[in-house]
Amino acid sequence: MHSKFRIPGPTPVPPAVIEAMQKPMIPHRGAEMKAMYTSILDRTRAAHRTSGDVLIWPGSGSAGWEIAIVNFFSPGDKVISLLAGAFAERFYDLGKRFGLEMVRADAPWGSANQPDQLRAAFEAHPDARAVFITHNETSTGICHPLEQLAMVAREFDALVFVDAVSSMGGIPLEMDTWGVDYVMSGSQKAWMCPPGLTIVAVGERCQAAYERSTFPKFFWDYAGMKKAAAEGSGQTTPPLTMLYAFDAALNMIFDEGIEQVWARHAALGAQMRAGIDRLGLPLFGDPEYASNTVTAIRLPDGITSASVIKTMASDHGIDVASWQGKGEEQVIRVGHMGWCDSEDIDVVLDALAEVIPALTTAG
Ligand code: PLP
Repeated sequence: MHSKFRIPGPTPVPPAVIEAMQKPMIPHRGAEMKAMYTSILDRTRAAHRTSGDVLIWPGSGSAGWEIAIVNFFSPGDKVISLLAGAFAERFYDLGKRFGLEMVRADAPWGSANQPDQLRAAFEAHPDARAVFITHNETSTGICHPLEQLAMVAREFDALVFVDAVSSMGGIPLEMDTWGVDYVMSGSQKAWMCPPGLTIVAVGERCQAAYERSTFPKFFWDYAGMKKAAAEGSGQTTPPLTMLYAFDAALNMIFDEGIEQVWARHAALGAQMRAGIDRLGLPLFGDPEYASNTVTAIRLPDGITSASVIKTMASDHGIDVASWQGKGEEQVIRVGHMGWCDSEDIDVVLDALAEVIPALTTAG
């Protein structure tokens, strides 16, 4: 067993990553840094399955939304936003704050946005330049059919911007083959690091979009960061300790093999779903699009998510997460991304098998 810390991010940090963070500082523009940084970027590029740019900023996942908007858009640009959960809402909201003309394409929370829905949105708005997609909607436990959605966007020659904060490194994402132009993630999810890095991949088609963009940019400037990365460092003083962590986590990911990491997550997701099914607990969302990194579970009537979260922690030392959406849904979310094995899932399922009936009787 690895950990009882089972919220959908931040995720447990493996000992090798914690140990790497003890290393002393090095000159951040020296040869040692350049070697480490270049190796980090090369492996991160390989994990994204792209030959494009991979850049790393100090930040959390949310910075990836802002980096996308200020670098590749201008006020008034029209963008279609696929919405089916809390994080897609934030991506949409950010677009609005920056003055983009955001077009909503909603699906009910717990379901997945579909290619036909996207096609209809582009037919109604042929001047839309891009689509915002949340690959894995952490709030509902739904993984969107990204390959098919990107294919539709390509039909309309639109750019595909993807929030992969809770999928990258855990769920397959073939950036170049699928025609995805931009992917953002944060270090604290399947990358097995503490929060602190914003990881961004930028494809070739974004170059022209960057040239057109009129937003002022400094800290999040793509060209500035790209130039610095080519020289083997960040544009500003890089978060060295976090880079040591990421370097060690990438060692673990590539020792296991990225495809094996994806397969492990698929097995963990299936194990979790089979387990809650045995307990008679339904998924919150559509099982066909169930995420392999986070499971949203609907609780029986009369049991609140607050009581389950509290009892899981007090009686079993296990942290699970609450519902993140509108209203008082009786939903808990269990994270199984990054440093997680099948025994970790069994521990959560065994605890739920005690806690749910006990709370039902008590209620
Ligand atoms: N997007 C998704 C899908 C997320 O799950 C999260 C965080 O959980 C974010 C964006 C925001 O990331 P952060 O909290 O690291 O800024």
